[in-house]
Amino acid sequence: MPQLDSYSKTIEVLNKYDFHFKKKYGQNFLIDSDILRDIVEGAEVTEYDTVIEIGPGVGSLTQYLAEAAGRVICIELDDRLVPILHDTLSEYDNVTIINDDVLDVDFEKLFKDENITGPVKFVANLPYYITTPIILGILQRDIDFDSITVMVQREVAERMQAKPGTSEYGALTLAVQFYTDPEILFTVKPESFVPRPKVESAVITLHRKELTEEQKQIQGPLFRTIRAAFNQRRKTLVNAIYNAGISDMSKKEMEDAMWNSCITTTWRAEVLTLDDYIKLTKVLKVK
Ligand code: SAM
Repeated sequence: MPQLDSYSKTIEVLNKYDFHFKKKYGQNFLIDSDILRDIVEGAEVTEYDTVIEIGPGVGSLTQYLAEAAGRVICIELDDRLVPILHDTLSEYDNVTIINDDVLDVDFEKLFKDENITGPVKFVANLPYYITTPIILGILQRDIDFDSITVMVQREVAERMQAKPGTSEYGALTLAVQFYTDPEILFTVKPESFVPRPKVESAVITLHRKELTEEQKQIQGPLFRTIRAAFNQRRKTLVNAIYNAGISDMSKKEMEDAMWNSCITTTWRAEVLTLDDYIKLTKVLKVK
């Protein structure tokens, strides 16, 4: 049975080890058993799954994951938490603790070293200061996973699920929606954490899509186009992409090619759909 499911039990563990939160590591620990249970249920974790948890903290979510999953591999940056995790997770023989920065982890090597063959699900209450690099790192590194279920800032979850033409729509939206189908599961109030974050949170699942060969080939140039468009989002499309130097075409050739493909050269980055960006990347022969 998970033990770490309340404010008092978490504080007891923190006091035992004289642990003080480090704000720079985004340490906001979950103390609400309903939310912990709902995350594991929302992620649809089964005994056949290997779960990779990023940032286990003192192991609250890890305990719930270990009850449901075949295996849990957790990656924690703060070495002060490692002895605490060995203590709070001592009852579970299906948990591996790795003390590392998740941004430095070579997942392909990790999967080989740990002999992971079955379905992989990422589940985490993420450190909010690096949400985007963590998610993009998993999506763009060609890692073999089924889904990512994560607690993030509510506003970031809304960006991942945004529609074109809205203020939330951006490069993160397009990356998430190219690789996955995002689904916001529920929102979480600051009272469910210690210490309380200043923002509302949401749990979102990203269900991985199978990419076609064509999509695999185009992903590099596609994200260069998207980056160029959003880096200069006040400029018109043709200027933003021309200035980025990612195509060998002249500006006039670009304008003609866009005109022939019914893409308006004066459109701005936030109105194009993912399919428009794919078309644009091909039409402009982005390298
Ligand atoms: N999972 C725990 C929970 O829900 O109570 C803690 C979540 S807390 C929001 C984020 C955790 O990520 C912290 O334990 C923090 O130390 C860890 N962390 C921060 N940066 C990290 C990084 N670059 N790599 C791995 N873990 C990191």
